[in-house]
Amino acid sequence: MKPNDFRYWLEKASAWSAEYRDTVQTHPVRSQLAPGTITKAIDQSPPEDAHSMETIFDDFKEIIPPGMTHWQHPRFFAYFPSNAAPAAVVAELLATAIGAQCMLWQTSPAATELEVCMVDWLRQATGLPEEFKGVLQDTASSATLCAILTMRELALDFQGNQKGLFGMPPLRVYASTRTHSSIDKAMWVAGLGQDNLVKIGTDESYAMKPDELREMIARDRKNGLKPAGVIVCVGGTSIGATDNVREICNIAKEEGLYTHVDAAWAGSAMICPEYRDLWEGIELADSIVLNPHKWLGAPMECSTHFVKDPEALVRTMAIQPEYLKTYGQDGIINFSEWGLQLGRRFRALKLWFLIRAYGLEGLRQRIRNHVNWSQELADKLAEENDFEIITAPVLSLFSFRYHPIGCNDEAELDRLNLELITRINDEGNIYLTQTIHDGKMVIRFVAGQFDMQRSDIEEAYQSIVCSARTTGS
Ligand SMILES: *Cc1c(COP(=O)(O)O)cnc(C)c1O
Repeated sequence: MKPNDFRYWLEKASAWSAEYRDTVQTHPVRSQLAPGTITKAIDQSPPEDAHSMETIFDDFKEIIPPGMTHWQHPRFFAYFPSNAAPAAVVAELLATAIGAQCMLWQTSPAATELEVCMVDWLRQATGLPEEFKGVLQDTASSATLCAILTMRELALDFQGNQKGLFGMPPLRVYASTRTHSSIDKAMWVAGLGQDNLVKIGTDESYAMKPDELREMIARDRKNGLKPAGVIVCVGGTSIGATDNVREICNIAKEEGLYTHVDAAWAGSAMICPEYRDLWEGIELADSIVLNPHKWLGAPMECSTHFVKDPEALVRTMAIQPEYLKTYGQDGIINFSEWGLQLGRRFRALKLWFLIRAYGLEGLRQRIRNHVNWSQELADKLAEENDFEIITAPVLSLFSFRYHPIGCNDEAELDRLNLELITRINDEGNIYLTQTIHDGKMVIRFVAGQFDMQRSDIEEAYQSIVCSARTTGS
């Protein structure tokens, strides 16, 4: 491609992107394509000869958008949001154009130093004490895996990486039954095994039972197993389950165990001081993950991993063959030694743009709106006599189900709610996902798209109620 062509196509791509974001609300939120539709539209083999950018771009415009679920649609209320605020998208474009691989300080000092600054901005913004340092991992799954590897190495006196786990005492990690599946997966990958993730029951407010945690730790010790750490849940994925951070961290401290707090979604809301009760006691944690790529507005792959003792993390994750050594620079950080990946994107740039372009106050206002509007919708649905709120809002997440008067058969209610959610998502005006809660099929509602307005909540209410009243008929 000639230099002028590069400029031309970047401008085309910018124009398309701006138009897309201006009109995203005109598309069905969830892609409506049948499986295999996109596969059929793509050439079965790679081309030997170059295609023109015109052809490629035309194919993109025709084939790809219908196969996308529009996460930046203001009526996306499924899963958790995955925001990409416009100012941060601009930063991503710049980082991609620069195309740096930011594994070491010397492979791009700006990327490393900006990352240190942005992690510290987020630390201040969320009210964490100064002793927390951190890194931007790609995802919470990676951060949690790093935390579990750190627990493993601390428990094994840093012998695990060298010797493997054969002949070592089985290590135990504790988490509530309501934690995210990324914790289970981290146990698999860390070689500790699913059976050594001890799931602790929760109380009526869905928080881990502290007494049961104590009992399980004591029992494990008696049986010759080796407790290594505790995962603390703040804003779980299904219904927002949240542990008592202070109480659980205190137990872990008494037992000499490492704590990792999973606040992947809810952590962004901690920029608002009034929500910080949710993780009261957070200063006691050893490690915390929160994803600015969910609610805050940074595009995908921006997960903040705070650690109180970077030394333990770096001793677990750093490997230094000769070709990765940096000579003559003392006290520098090489972030590839803080995580799994060697090669790393320039992740901090999008945070720098995001936080400056909206200001903390602009970001807080969005989150407050999402929380308040979600609460309003929960209140309105609660007033309808054929809906019930199943779990009360935790920040902007609640769950509900359709429960027509006189229908008290649980299997029939499950079927009706599954039919309702399918109908709603096929209509495409809003997008919701379901979960199983206490054996019931229920519908989750999460507000959080960056540009949503109160009117989008009103539309959600209309869509839910209208679809329900034509369900089963
Ligand atoms: C989304 C989520 C995760 C996983 O996050 P990724 O960044 O997609 O790996 C983990 N824990 C909780 C509570 C989450 O909400």
